[in-house]
This record gives sequence, C-alpha cells and structure tokens, in this order.
Amino acid sequence: MTKALGIFSGGLDSILAALLLRQQGIEVHCICFVSPFFNAENAKQTAERYGLPLQVMDISAEHLEMLKHPRYGYGKNMNPCIDCHAQMFEVAGRVMEERGYDFLFSGEVLGQRPKSQVNTALMLVNKASGYAGRILRPLSAQLLPITPMEEQGLVDRDQLKAIQGRSRKPQEQLAKELGVTDYPSSGGGCPLTESSFSGRLKDLFEYQPQCNVTDVELLKYGRPFRLSADSKLTLGRNQSTNESLKRVVATTAGMAGCLLRCLNFSGPLGVVSGKPQGDDLKVAAGIVASYGKGRNEVEIEVLVINGSEEQVLKVAPMPRDQVADYQI
Ligand code: SF4
Repeated sequence: MTKALGIFSGGLDSILAALLLRQQGIEVHCICFVSPFFNAENAKQTAERYGLPLQVMDISAEHLEMLKHPRYGYGKNMNPCIDCHAQMFEVAGRVMEERGYDFLFSGEVLGQRPKSQVNTALMLVNKASGYAGRILRPLSAQLLPITPMEEQGLVDRDQLKAIQGRSRKPQEQLAKELGVTDYPSSGGGCPLTESSFSGRLKDLFEYQPQCNVTDVELLKYGRPFRLSADSKLTLGRNQSTNESLKRVVATTAGMAGCLLRCLNFSGPLGVVSGKPQGDDLKVAAGIVASYGKGRNEVEIEVLVINGSEEQVLKVAPMPRDQVADYQI
C-alpha cells in the first residue's frame, strides 16, 4: 500500500489534502511542527476528528537558526516563508526516510499567499528541502508539473485538484464534497508576519545574535525594553502575560534572567534577560515601578529575584517620557 506523510496544520487545506489522498486508498499519516511561532492545537483536534494519525515534532531550535539567516530572505516582515516551508519538508523528509513513506504532501495552494505559494516559490521550496520529486500538493497538483509519484501510478493525478488563488470558495466546495464540516477558521496567527513582533525580533537579533528559543519566547509576552547592549527587560501586560513570563523563566533550565516586582504595590512582573551590568537592574526596577500602582510615589521598593537570591532595590518610578527612551 502506498504511504504518504503530510505536513499538517489542522487548517482546512491540510485536511482536504489528506482526505483527497486517503480517498484514493493511500495510507495517510500527518506531521505537525511546533515552535514559538506555531503550535499543534488545531492539528491535534482536527486530526482526531478526521481519524488522521498525527505526529507532533518540536523544531524550535533549528527553526530559530534558520530564522537568523534565511537563505531566501524575509517577506514583508520577519517571515522567511520559503525557508520555513522548505525546513518543514526537510524535517518531514527525514521522517519519511526513517519510516518508509513513499512521498510527502501538503495543503499548499498555488497563488494563495503572495510570496511562498507562487509557482516559482513552490519549486524553490522543493529544491531547498532536498526532497524535490517527493513532494505532492494535491489541491493544486493539476496545475503543477507532474511528479514522479503520479508518473509511477502511486497517485492518480485525475483525482487531484487544480485549485489556485486566494478565493476560499473551491476549498469550501471541496469540503462539502468530502464531508468536512468542522474546521478551524483560516487566517494569520504567525507572529513573524506582524510588524510589531518583527521589530522586537530584529532588535533581539541585532543585540543578541546568539539568542536562544527562550529569548524569542519572551518576545511574545509583554513590553520589551532595551537596558543596554547586553540586557533587556520584558514587562508583563496583564495577569495572563505575567503568568506566561513566570512560566518561561521557571521552565527554562539555566536561564540567565531575573524577576522583578513591586513590593507593597500591585504591578506587572518584569524579567531581565541577558547580562545586566552597572545600573541596568536599577533602571529596570524604575521601569517596573512606573507601571505599578505605586507610580506616583517618590520612592518604592522593588524585589529582584535571581535564582535563589533576593534583593530589594529602592527606586523612584521612572517618568513615562524617560521610559519611552528604553522601549523597543
Ligand atoms: S507565515 Fe510563519 S509559519 Fe507560515 S511559512 Fe511563513 S514564517 Fe513559516
């Protein structure tokens, strides 16, 4: 029996691609990737709903290394979509070889996204992945060059589709035909396509070229401030981001960072990462104080927790016009 491994986000296109192949009698398995920029929640839910076996793989570290120097560059923001897709196929390709699948597939649709899904970009993805000739895109296959899988009769090209462009109507029609009624709404979600997140990421790459996955995770939660070339403060925006910051620090072994919070007044949690020196911690404490309920006091106490060590800094809440000078 022919066996195919599909890159699966859990979105409608990836469901349709998988079901189109399964309808041909192909044994379909799916793989979903996790990084600070994408997760497996939708994929897990929809794979279960449609009875698709799913493997989840965390590629955070290698994705970050690619993100620092994408071979084909960035899109409008810090989104290296061609390299990102190529990396997913490269990793999936390794799994394909280990487990004996016949080919890879995805739900990509020709012309659906500006840069990564025009014909030349799809071909670049194929080439850069190292698995050109083993990648099938069932939804647009009839518009793309015939693949060895179709030539060899592993897949019936006539049962594949010729969908292209940004309209979702053909996919909605196909969903009806295949009995797909329940799927997550399409759209966005990748922080790399957002200009504000991209600005923070650029700052991180500029000042901390050796940054790791935790440094990137911190960018997702709260307001970032650059204290010096070697250190940064991230300030929670609300209870939920405060908790997320705490979790990132607590779950990261050996993380070089400390937590700051106001004593005697409620306020946000701050995380100083990198290598704070000189007055960096005092500056951070002044910023933390300026976002807390004690912002109008002359001086307040800020608790600094660094691993098992604690110290209390007495600082004046920093005036907001000065705070702005540190904001990234
Ligand atoms: S939008 Fe984000 S997750 Fe999607 S291909 Fe581009 S960089 Fe990768």
